[in-house]
Amino acid sequence: MAESLLILISIVIGIIWSQIISHWGASILLHRYYCHKQFEVPVWFEVIGLYMLMVAVIRTPIGWIASHRMHHHHSDGPEDPHAVKHVGFWKVLLTTWDIPNIPVRYAKDLYANPRLVFCHKYWKHIWVANWVISFLISPYFFVAFALVPFVFAKIGFGLLNTVGHKTEGGANVPWLNLFIAGEGYHKEHHYDSKKIRLHKYDTAGWIAEKLFTRG
Ligand SMILES: [Zn+2]
Ligand SMILES: [Zn+2]
Repeated sequence: MAESLLILISIVIGIIWSQIISHWGASILLHRYYCHKQFEVPVWFEVIGLYMLMVAVIRTPIGWIASHRMHHHHSDGPEDPHAVKHVGFWKVLLTTWDIPNIPVRYAKDLYANPRLVFCHKYWKHIWVANWVISFLISPYFFVAFALVPFVFAKIGFGLLNTVGHKTEGGANVPWLNLFIAGEGYHKEHHYDSKKIRLHKYDTAGWIAEKLFTRG
């Protein structure tokens, strides 16, 4: 088979895998469950979802969750860790912003979860191992199962924090759903962070509502 066709197939598989990760790992587990405790999930689901998040290289989940809680508390203000107005568009789009220290109250409960602590400590090791093993299996496997999900997650988070906040307090931007699993109704989410399904086209919200019991 021609090499260019194999690369194309790898990218298509990578996009399908990225959609699975963005729905189950990023939206349902990381955002709706860990950040906002909208419902309960079983431990096996946490383990699988966290693995997906490590594939997407979200770095430390504890840092992600705590900074997202800070973002809700200080939306678009100077203490919002990724407010475009204060941090700058490109830094937010490329997720190169940093938080010198996160107040302990945003992360205190997270350290009681051994699965989160494990990923917090070893995310770099898991990242390197995942990339090396994927590449050793095959460069095409690496593209589909490691590289595309990494790029896709970067784009998704960057777009959510910039375009999803083009107006203060969050904006509803339906095309964002292609990258962030139904969370394009971000204004709706800021209005009520406990609301599971944000819109009829909120696909991850629909799945969560069907499968999990409200917390
Ligand atoms: Zn927001
Ligand atoms: Zn949120």
